[in-house]
Amino acid sequence: MKRVLKKIFLPCTVATEMIEKDIYFKLSALEKLRLFLHTGLCGLCHRYQKHSRLLHRILMELHHEHEHPQAPKEEEQTALKEKITNRLEKN
Ligand SMILES: [Zn+2]
Repeated sequence: MKRVLKKIFLPCTVATEMIEKDIYFKLSALEKLRLFLHTGLCGLCHRYQKHSRLLHRILMELHHEHEHPQAPKEEEQTALKEKITNRLEKN
């Protein structure tokens, strides 16, 4: 039984790699299941996943805004930094 659990339950180092892979590529059904089980039991990886997805979403928003040639003003940059910090602290 221990061996089966060891095979199913990922180490955190593998789980965090899969979290990153999940954002940019597709995970297989088995990988998704293993990651789901891991993040359900490991609070640190669960938080890492939330933060990673949040950062990805913010970067995509910035990338989209970057397509428009207006550079953000200094006060907008400061407001954005505060927004990112606040959202990270909430999660
Ligand atoms: Zn973990």
